[in-house]
Amino acid sequence: MPKKIAGPEIERLIQLLSRLPGLGPRSGRKAALALLKRRQELLVPLAQALANAAEKLVECPSCGNIDTVSPCTICADPRRDRSLIVVVEEIGDLWALERAGVVSGLYHVLGGHLSPLDGIGPERLNIGKLIERAAPPVKEVLLALNTTVEGQSTAHYLTEQLQGRGLTVTRLAQGVPMGGELDYLDEGTLAAAIKSRRTL
Ligand code: ZN
Repeated sequence: MPKKIAGPEIERLIQLLSRLPGLGPRSGRKAALALLKRRQELLVPLAQALANAAEKLVECPSCGNIDTVSPCTICADPRRDRSLIVVVEEIGDLWALERAGVVSGLYHVLGGHLSPLDGIGPERLNIGKLIERAAPPVKEVLLALNTTVEGQSTAHYLTEQLQGRGLTVTRLAQGVPMGGELDYLDEGTLAAAIKSRRTL
């Protein structure tokens, strides 16, 4: 057992911060200290922001995105092109595409990819809702899945499911390296991959 360095509230804060992606115990302590030293301008507003987000978080019933409003901000935006649905594995991918600013349409978040070895079949993903949405006014479903083996087999499965529905199924083209995850790509690469998408 490592020796405790502070009261239980601070120990708890360090413990939780250490669990954030990219942080470990060392960075967790650093982050906690930064917060404690700036009580008014950082710690209190952050606590408030966390409480607000925790209270209001909801999954969009249409696309599977997470937001504090329902339907989500993107689904509710009247300027979005409702003939295009861009399918992504995770919300991080949706955020990456939004940062690149190249998607005019709506999204659909699967919540992962097919992975038979881990027991993740189609019923574990947000696929039923996608099939339901794949009807007019939707004309194109763009599969913006990772170029990993799992991402590609998921794309293959979805293509089969979406066939015969009178819409075009497309996928990202060049620029996405094999094994690549969208969240790690720069915005220019993402934009090029969207623009040069091809029909399956
Ligand atoms: Zn939505």
